[in-house]
Amino acid sequence: MSNPDLNAIRAAAKSIYAIAQPTPLVPSPHLSRKTGVEVLLKLECMQPTGAFKLRGAVNAVLNLPTATRGVTCCSSGNHGRGIAFAAQKYGLRAVICMSELVPKIKVSAIRDLGAEVRIIGHSQDDAQAEVERLVATEGLTEVSPFDHADVIAGQGTIALELLTARPDLATLIVPLSGGGLAAGVAVGAKALKPDIRVIGVTMENGAAMHASIRAGHPVDVVEVDSLADSLGGGIMADNRLTLDLCSRLLDDTLLVSEAQIYAAMQRLYHEDRLIAEGAAAAGIAVLVNGQIRNIAGPVAVVISGRNVDMTRFTDIINGQDIQLGQTRLKGQPYTG
Ligand SMILES: *Cc1c(COP(=O)(O)O)cnc(C)c1O
Repeated sequence: MSNPDLNAIRAAAKSIYAIAQPTPLVPSPHLSRKTGVEVLLKLECMQPTGAFKLRGAVNAVLNLPTATRGVTCCSSGNHGRGIAFAAQKYGLRAVICMSELVPKIKVSAIRDLGAEVRIIGHSQDDAQAEVERLVATEGLTEVSPFDHADVIAGQGTIALELLTARPDLATLIVPLSGGGLAAGVAVGAKALKPDIRVIGVTMENGAAMHASIRAGHPVDVVEVDSLADSLGGGIMADNRLTLDLCSRLLDDTLLVSEAQIYAAMQRLYHEDRLIAEGAAAAGIAVLVNGQIRNIAGPVAVVISGRNVDMTRFTDIINGQDIQLGQTRLKGQPYTG
């Protein structure tokens, strides 16, 4: 495993496209009108697994030690699906450990790929304990969803695609949880274009990386139900890579509420005709709400995934109320 630098990202770009896809970068005329700068959407929702995490997962699986007996990870769903997809292609055993907060559609998609699934406890930390047990007792190799050099380099290939397509990009907006996506994109983009701005966006209910950057060390957050379920989970107390990279390379981290995520999912559907999960819509919310001061265009927003329960999704686009654990989120029809 090498440092997650531009060379590692270029190496990842030589191999991941055997399985992962380069994705379209499409204009959003209505967001451009609304913000006054050119806005482009990077459609990671078009990956075969429905989320960007396939890039890092494929890169990590291709770089596993040859003697491994298989691969294991904890996941909020999309990383596990990426690992399961790659493991199936290469005939490897995969065991994916998840908490009870992971939506059923994500769990069943992983099972359908032939991976073993373990559902443990109410947080990623509980699932992580099972991962450590599997590494110790069954000879499996762990691939962290974010704190892993090959995963970060894989996600960084997004930056190569972005700046190859549009060298004039001035601002990149990426959803932020454990920080593998933000770190990979920032490492790649800033190596190619040092003055580009990279902004991480996360939900205010459980913003672990945002709080950890401010504290200067990993901060634990309580995990609650969120529309942005893919942004759940902490950054691990023993974080080695992403806290340092995100602290040094992100120009800002911004927070969005559940109501803002709801409205952004509606907007992406009604205006851009896209199905995006809550995590993927977070970047749209900060744009629409003018949370980025002196924004410079062109702007690219990473639409990170589309793996949303379709009953919940149709409720949202129709303006229905949503039950999130114990709290009820008041719905509202989309009005533009
Ligand atoms: C995992 C994930 C994120 C956040 O990525 P990190 O590398 O954990 O910061 C954002 N959006 C989607 C859809 C995801 O699956």
